[in-house]
Amino acid sequence: MSKVPSITLNNGVTMPQLGFGVFQIPDDEAATVIGHALDTGYRSIDTAAVYGNEEGTGRALAASGIPREELFVTTKLWNSEQGYDSTLRAFDASLAKLGLEYVDLYLIHWPVPARDTYVDTYKAFEKIYTDGRAKAIGVSNFQPAHLERLLGETSVVPAVNQIELHPRLQQAEARAFHASHGIATEAWSPLGQGKGLLEDPAIAELAAKHGRTPAQVVLRWHLQLGNVVIPKSATPSRIAENFDVFGFELDDADLAALAGLDSGTRLGPDPATFE
Ligand code: NAD
Repeated sequence: MSKVPSITLNNGVTMPQLGFGVFQIPDDEAATVIGHALDTGYRSIDTAAVYGNEEGTGRALAASGIPREELFVTTKLWNSEQGYDSTLRAFDASLAKLGLEYVDLYLIHWPVPARDTYVDTYKAFEKIYTDGRAKAIGVSNFQPAHLERLLGETSVVPAVNQIELHPRLQQAEARAFHASHGIATEAWSPLGQGKGLLEDPAIAELAAKHGRTPAQVVLRWHLQLGNVVIPKSATPSRIAENFDVFGFELDDADLAALAGLDSGTRLGPDPATFE
């Protein structure tokens, strides 16, 4: 049985707090890599139309034999498909590729404010949700101003906002906004993409103190903050290492040391301008 705690989203749906991200895993390798993650115990998989591996993801889920209700599958709508009708078509295509009748979570991948179509897009998401084809709907890379607009012009409060978040980009303002509106914070690039962050001496010190690896310390930090995390690895030993984060606890001094690493450093694009 999974040791992974769940969080309850604002519509009552439960979501594993630790999942497996599949960005940059080629479609023809996805079945093997995701199969390994499922064998390790991961039950939540984070993909996206633009990753080009929804079919491989679907093959892994089908081959696992794990009952559908024990899985939590997230996919995302790509920017070029924003708009009401195009969203409905893109969602059908994603479901067909995944070979599923519903997803657990459907996210708008980026707000693309320059296009100004995320409100119409989200209205299509509300239809998909009402039809029961996504158990929860949400967004990704939305800043508080984009969320304010959605909250004002649509009726279903997003269940999740998936944003870049790691010790060097702690996103205090976004996290506080989410908390005050019942939106769960999900961290992408939770390990800061590995290099650099995981070599930070302050993290190495905490890893030595707890007899853990730097990646485990960083994932533990996310979990204790209440974030949902979706680390990615294609390496079996790291897939296992990243799942083994429930047998230790960071103390207040550890958390304070990690809080001190925030430098506002983005690894990915700026959501205000990314198209
Ligand atoms: P990540 O922070 O999960 O880092 C992954 C990299 O870290 C790996 O490629 C590997 O090089 C290294 N790594 C992993 N485990 C390690 C370990 N135990 N020890 C040492 N190094 C290790 O970064 P990511 O892949 O960018 O993000 C995770 C997931 O978030 C993605 O797969 C995707 O699902 C999602 N994501 C979403 C968005 C978005 O716009 N919504 C953007 C980027 C990523």
